Parts: sequence; C-alpha cells; structure tokens
Amino acid sequence: MSSTNPGGAAGPHPIVVGNWKMNGLKTALTEAVKVKDGLPAAGAPVDVMICPPATLVLVLAEVLKGSHVRVGGQDCHAAASGAFTGDVAAGMLLDGGASAVILGHSERRAGHGERDWDVRAKVVTAHAAGLTAIVCVGETAGERAAGLTETVVRRQLAGSLPDGITAANTIVAYEPVWAIGTGLTPTTGDVAAVHAAIHSALGERYGKDAGGVRLLYGGSVKPSNARELLGVPHVHGALVGGASLTAADFLGIIKAYDAAG
Ligand code: PEP
Repeated sequence: MSSTNPGGAAGPHPIVVGNWKMNGLKTALTEAVKVKDGLPAAGAPVDVMICPPATLVLVLAEVLKGSHVRVGGQDCHAAASGAFTGDVAAGMLLDGGASAVILGHSERRAGHGERDWDVRAKVVTAHAAGLTAIVCVGETAGERAAGLTETVVRRQLAGSLPDGITAANTIVAYEPVWAIGTGLTPTTGDVAAVHAAIHSALGERYGKDAGGVRLLYGGSVKPSNARELLGVPHVHGALVGGASLTAADFLGIIKAYDAAG
C-alpha cells in the first residue's frame, strides 16, 4: 500500500508507533482509549500502534479490539520458549494480541549488552512467531561527533537484519541515541541523509525501493516538530517514546499526516 507523507512524497503507508517503555499501570489504558477515540472512525491516514510494557499487552489488545490501533511488544527473547526467567517470548506477545515487537532499541543495546547478532536472532524468532520486527538502529553522540553516523547505522543494519526480510515483517527505525528522551533532534537535512543511506543499504540487500520496508524516525518527536520530521524523504512514520504517554501529544503527532492538521 502506498500513501503520502506530510511533505507530499508518495511512499509506503506511514505508521506512528508509541513506545511506552517501562511506564504504565492499568490506569494508563485510559490514554490508549483516548487515542482510539481520537482517530477518525474511518481510520487515521496512518497506521497507529502502541507498545506498552509486557504486563499490559493482553489487556490493551482487548481494550483496542476492533479499533484501528494495533499493539506491539518492546522486546522478546531469541528462543521460542524455555528456561529464561523473566523474559518474554515472541509467541507470548502474539498470543496476547501483539502484531509487532520493537527489537534492538538503544536502551536494550546499552542497558542489556545486546549486540547486532543478538538482535538478528530475535528478529528471526519474531518473524517465525508471526510478528513484525521493528528494528532500531542509531549512533551515539560520540559516534556522530567522530563522523561515523552512516558507518555505524550501516553496520547495525547489516548485522541486525536477517536475509529475506519483507515490508510485511520488518520496519526499521532510525533513532539517534543522543536524540532519545533529550529534546534534541537532528536537522531535517541530517535525517534525510541518514534515511537515504538506510534506503540505499536496504536496496542493495533487499532490492528495489528497499524492499518496501518502512523507515521510521525516532528521537524526541513531538507534535510541534512532527510535521517537519515526518515530511523528510524516506521517512515513513515515527517511533515515539515520551510523547506517546499522553493521548493528546500522541494524537498531535498522528495529525502531522492529516492534510487539515
Ligand atoms: C524511543 O525511546 O524510542 C524514543 C524515540 O523516545 P523519545 O521519543 O522519548 O525520544
């Protein structure tokens, strides 16, 4: 399916994904209901997904049943099941009503020592379970200062993605680590350059138009900057952390795709 981004360029149908991280008790479900109720009855001009903590996947999927808002997980184990205390299996997320899972988020890479091959193993398991993998890549401030942004992102893509990915089973999110939760964002020119590099790296490996895989930008997206960031060529949506916790802000970002918005 193709659509139009706020900048007017045609491309894959956009998606806005909320990552609640380790935030949200049952009371937070009211925000998700407000998101659902705030979308046009005919559906938003973008796909919308919320990735709550694992404890809320099942109940959120129930609450959002029949709506246009999908549910995703934030991580899964590389094994399908077994003796892995405290971990969540891809099949459990699917069973709970999730259709996707975020993998390789920089907070997992930094806080849990996940390397590219760990991420790739999880992507393979997520695909086998029937989930779409939302695979995160992005450089640190130090790597950026050293002029290594594209090198790092290309290396992460090469190592984190298995062969044979498709537009249906994989989404890539470019999230500069220094922009996550900081209020800082790259210039639109910087985002355009990195997304063009990702598009070309995926094109070399998966074929024309990067195999149709959607490329998200993530890092301090908010209603006030969504329209310009999401209008950049080869940006097909956003991965949103902090601003996804309140329905008003999340809907404000989704509205970047509303011609009247
Ligand atoms: C994220 O963690 O994926 C993220 C983009 O966070 P924030 O929007 O808060 O920068």
